[in-house]
Amino acid sequence: MTSLPEPSALPSSPVDLLVVGAGVVGLAHAVEAHLRGLSVAVVERDAFAVGASVRNFGHICTTAQDGTALAYALAARERWLWLAEKAGFTALECGTVVVARRPDELTVLEEFAAVRGPDQVVLLDRAGVATHLPAHDSAVVGGAYLPLDLRVDPREVIPAVSGWLAEQGVPITWRTNVLAVEPGLVRTTRGDVRAARTVVAVGHDVDRLLPEVADDAGLTRCRLQMLQVAVPKEVRVRPGVLTGLSLLRYRGFASLPAAERVRARVERESPELADAVVNLMFTQRPDGDIVLGDTHHYAPTHEPFGDEALAELVLREGSRLLGVPGLRVRKRWHGVYASAPADFLDREVADGVRVVSVTSGIGMTTAHGLAGAVLDALI
Ligand SMILES: Cc1cc2nc3c(=O)[nH]c(=O)nc-3n(C[C@H](O)[C@H](O)[C@H](O)COP(=O)(O)OP(=O)(O)OC[C@H]3O[C@@H](n4cnc5c(N)ncnc54)[C@H](O)[C@@H]3O)c2cc1C
Repeated sequence: MTSLPEPSALPSSPVDLLVVGAGVVGLAHAVEAHLRGLSVAVVERDAFAVGASVRNFGHICTTAQDGTALAYALAARERWLWLAEKAGFTALECGTVVVARRPDELTVLEEFAAVRGPDQVVLLDRAGVATHLPAHDSAVVGGAYLPLDLRVDPREVIPAVSGWLAEQGVPITWRTNVLAVEPGLVRTTRGDVRAARTVVAVGHDVDRLLPEVADDAGLTRCRLQMLQVAVPKEVRVRPGVLTGLSLLRYRGFASLPAAERVRARVERESPELADAVVNLMFTQRPDGDIVLGDTHHYAPTHEPFGDEALAELVLREGSRLLGVPGLRVRKRWHGVYASAPADFLDREVADGVRVVSVTSGIGMTTAHGLAGAVLDALI
């Protein structure tokens, strides 16, 4: 049996800010508050972070965002680069390649390039795509390179940021469940903590801790099917890779007039992809494996049984995209994130108590920008 680390003791004197949850959103608030000179502590239910923040692609998908999400993403990008240096992890300035395999997908990318300009979007022909993605589907007609985007390894960066915070004197009390949050007081399974302000950053668990807030925000849980697959050694892909299906997900693309034609065509020609809400994308891990996904299913509680048909669908599409038959699966998992009509939940529920969640599946991209805005409002 593995022995669990002792959780550090809860702070015995009052702190300026208590953060509930040590996923990327909680850690981002702890970082921003620490940098503003506040005394900060974090309380986390698990022995180490196992939520959405370590189950994702590590794709810092800055450029494809729009509006407030884009503003947060641009601020977060700077914070990731800064933190990488301080906390000693890799944040690759590798950009994203969006692969178009149909002319209608290329039209969306042309519209996107016209709106954003050459600093953010570089259109690619077929050969240009091949320079980023050597093995690929023969149906590729072109694409776009988004140079601003980053890539991190979520399994590296979440522990690295927790460790850096602990070194800065920000205690993280693990294996401690928060039961209730009141103005000035947080009740946990190991006792109470006094805090002038509290940020509740429990991801999709807002619906368990504060059900009225979740209901009011229209929050549900989105479950994604994810795979880690082995690829031949020569397949080396630095950027994150998005596809035509991604054009239907990220607001920067999906809000463009040409995106509707892509949506109608996918629904007509590939209803199985539309039904499973597939966003075919991948990133390559430092060990060369590819993190491939994903499907989306929305419910307040999910069946515990994985559906192999979804994994087969993602594998089929991944093989086709990479032009590599018979991808071997090394790991399978589900990820869950909070989903709601608005991209972000940020609500003051009591004096000095703020509930914050990224409700659109872009927390790795935006959390550090969102946290800055929340802290500005909170202090
Ligand atoms: C499969 C998948 C792929 C994704 N890919 C990307 C991507 O490539 N790029 C991107 O930008 N975003 C991506 N996302 C979205 C991103 O991962 C999430 O938006 C983000 O991780 C949410 O962070 P969080 O801190 O709110 O949640 P979590 O990481 O789930 O953390 C919440 C923490 O709160 C703790 N907690 C809950 N209740 C309590 C309690 N009562 N007391 C104490 N602790 C508690 C939990 O244990 C957990 O550690 C992806 C999401 C998934 C699921």
